[in-house]
Amino acid sequence: MACVSYPYAAPVSQTLFDRAAAVTPGGVNSPVRAFRAVGGTPRFMVSGDGPYLTDADGREYVDLVCSWGPMILGHSHPEVTAAVQAAVARGTSFGTPGEGEVELAEEIVARVAPVEQVRLVSSGTEATMSAIRLARGYTGRSKVIKFAGCYHGHVDALLAAAGSGVATFGLPDTPGVTGAQAGETVVLPYNDLEAVRAAFAAHPGEIACVITEASAGNMGVVPPLPGFNAGLKQLCADHGALYISDEVMTGFRVSRAGWFGLDGVEPDLMTFGKVMGGGFPAAAFGGRADVMERLAPAGPVYQAGTLSGNPVATAAGVAQLRLLDDAAYARVDAASERLRAMVTEALSKEGVAHRVQVAGNMFSVFFTADEVTDYEKAKAQEAFRFTAFFHSMLSQGVYLPPSAFESWFVSTTHDEKALERVAAALPGAARAAAEATE
Ligand code: PLP
Repeated sequence: MACVSYPYAAPVSQTLFDRAAAVTPGGVNSPVRAFRAVGGTPRFMVSGDGPYLTDADGREYVDLVCSWGPMILGHSHPEVTAAVQAAVARGTSFGTPGEGEVELAEEIVARVAPVEQVRLVSSGTEATMSAIRLARGYTGRSKVIKFAGCYHGHVDALLAAAGSGVATFGLPDTPGVTGAQAGETVVLPYNDLEAVRAAFAAHPGEIACVITEASAGNMGVVPPLPGFNAGLKQLCADHGALYISDEVMTGFRVSRAGWFGLDGVEPDLMTFGKVMGGGFPAAAFGGRADVMERLAPAGPVYQAGTLSGNPVATAAGVAQLRLLDDAAYARVDAASERLRAMVTEALSKEGVAHRVQVAGNMFSVFFTADEVTDYEKAKAQEAFRFTAFFHSMLSQGVYLPPSAFESWFVSTTHDEKALERVAAALPGAARAAAEATE
């Protein structure tokens, strides 16, 4: 298929961005959308269909972001759309319990063995914030271990050395988080069990939990080294702390049971978001019943939400999860594998040092020759090459995450036709990466 080539200017998006900047800080409602890491005009999208997005200037893109993970069935999936429309017609929020919440909770419990009980919330941030509160309430301890480069949402205590947008902007810390809030957080290098062992020894009886991305995806894709997650689980068990696996990104994406389905290490608590909401704000945390039962109203640890378990969001989530059978995961895995091979071939042909790192069907491209196992190594990549690569792809109708520190996502709808379009764009983008200078 012929390669699409767009003029760089996007006048309608630029006009919308100017309007947005007048009324919204930086013109966006989540920082990474602003394109600051790569420069240029963020594309304002007006519609999505399967693997494609259409922007306000009428240009179509193959979408390799999938709303940062949730759209695993592609955009506007007819069955998810129908479920949402039916739910909207029945009413959009009741502030009472509803059957949709039970169905979504049952679906999660049925898929992820360590989750005996689950509480629904509206964002991944809320899920991790609440899981940490619960861990502190359960253990009666205050300290939390997290890993540099892991992003768990914008929870005050977890913004220390976070990945994702924080990695993109290189913010060491953020103003507004007090020393007291950050002071209870112990930040350690990812994939370094010795450091975790030493931290437990240095803070006996003080560590409530270790929270880790099940497989890191917010410093680019950096999977846990063999034995890392199992080692965390063991150290937590040895020291009376809880092991929290953050599956907001990997959950229901990399397998039916998320990363747990691939590595089998049983966390005490887990957090979910993205895919489970079918494109709506639904997230969750769950785990051992004896821990979850400490939550209000069953127990004393308070947690609540006006829109938690919203009937439209739960209808979308249930519809999406029920469509995600083994055949669906096989399609996503195959599209991811094909795409990885194409990217490797194109960059290798141009002699660009790179590594494609993989976690199930999630992957990202690091512009470095060395294996990336932690945040320091991730930051050492030649991110300026990604900028050139990104803009070349964008101008040829392929929408990549606008940062070198993010995972790429595909869906069941990334078919031959969509992948051919990516294939046609790759040689030019690889050349641009090869020619880029700092
Ligand atoms: N945890 C992980 C692993 C994430 O990737 C994210 C978001 O990207 C979050 C938590 C926060 O989720 P949300 O953006 O829904 O608050």
